Amino acid sequence: MSAGGIEHGKCAAFGCPLPGSLGMGGEWVCFCHHGASAAGWQNVTRCIRSHESLASSISDARRFLGTPQWSSAYRTIRQRLTAAGLADLLPGKADESPCSPGHPVAVHWLMRMEMHLLGLCNAAADAALSHPAPPPATRTQGPTPATAYLPDVAKKPENGDTA
Ligand SMILES: [Zn+2]
Repeated sequence: MSAGGIEHGKCAAFGCPLPGSLGMGGEWVCFCHHGASAAGWQNVTRCIRSHESLASSISDARRFLGTPQWSSAYRTIRQRLTAAGLADLLPGKADESPCSPGHPVAVHWLMRMEMHLLGLCNAAADAALSHPAPPPATRTQGPTPATAYLPDVAKKPENGDTA
């Protein structure tokens, strides 16, 4: 509809595929961008996109939980996470409430997935903020004297102290 308007429901960070679920300065951002500094937004977006299967599963869970489409959405999430080697992020014991053992709580599960992605993105942001990767080790054995590179200079006789 309106050009330049924020796509409804999406995180305000450019390129972020997650739904905006937290308010920040009049915009809606996802849980990953919410705590990140503006300078780090791009890295966070990159991280989210590199964990596509998890990010899509979170988006789908937020979108379809409690709707008639949930059972088919959940089948997709299940396949996706299993294929990505993230089967331990499927609903399980960790999501059960002490009040009803044996029944994972959907909100706990969703939060667990979000915390997992947030952890990955925080780790990526920290790595990007700390010193850039050092160059491959150049093995030097002690300082190399400049004369090694400039033999002519070394041979030059000294000026004016032969009196
Ligand atoms: Zn976002």
